[in-house]
Amino acid sequence: MFLRFPGGLVKALTFSYDDGVEQDMRLVKLMDEHGMKGTFNLNSGQFTPEGFAFAPGTIHRRMTLAQNKALFTGRHEVAVHCLTHAYLPDISQERMVYEIVKDRENLEREFGGIVRGMAYPYGAVDDATVEAVRCCGIRYARTTRSTHAFRIPQDWLRLDPTCHHDDPLLMDLADRFVEARNFNEVKLFYLWGHAYEFEANNNWQVIQRFMDRLAGRDDIWYATNIEICDYVLAWKQVYASVDGRRLHNPTSFTLWFEEGGQVRALAPGETLAL
Ligand SMILES: [Zn+2]
Repeated sequence: MFLRFPGGLVKALTFSYDDGVEQDMRLVKLMDEHGMKGTFNLNSGQFTPEGFAFAPGTIHRRMTLAQNKALFTGRHEVAVHCLTHAYLPDISQERMVYEIVKDRENLEREFGGIVRGMAYPYGAVDDATVEAVRCCGIRYARTTRSTHAFRIPQDWLRLDPTCHHDDPLLMDLADRFVEARNFNEVKLFYLWGHAYEFEANNNWQVIQRFMDRLAGRDDIWYATNIEICDYVLAWKQVYASVDGRRLHNPTSFTLWFEEGGQVRALAPGETLAL
């Protein structure tokens, strides 16, 4: 029996972009045009004040709160990137907790919802950081270590992305992902970066080309980070009879799986005889 994504799909694509910069506006527009969804990791203690004028040539321009609220209206996910973009391994654990939980509280107040995602500032993570993240009700937290693979994360609090958008292997990986056929385990392409880098490196064509390659495919689920995390973790809650002939779904998700070449759905609360 193998997990399938909603609708029986075998692949998922998601994006994770950090710091809440002005260039996110163009990136969101590209995602929307390509039918894709992403996660934006914000530092709620560092929104740019209204009326602030950046020095000419400034590339890392954080958005104001109003700009963020106008951009993120529910389609894409807003997630924790810590209150002040602190380097977590170098601060006390109670300060870590404050950086995470205060950011989470601010984001929930301003954007609604229940924020449970995070990206580590600077990608910096150690055991104490993970412990703090867990205490703050975070379900997944992203690192910056590329796997160059499409595995479903085993440790969601050390979620390693497939690659950064400037990775020289980006389009090779995109081709491999699109062309992959006849496999059992579902595949996840997880891309991360900062949208200001497209302006700094003058390479918006990189993300345009990537999206063009992966858009509009009927075997890919285009989802935010938390949608994928919640779905996969819901599957872990399904329980089965000893003989494996009865499955029960205690969650609020319709869960899809493949058994003997047949794709089936398990409704919320359903007990299914196989
Ligand atoms: Zn950052």
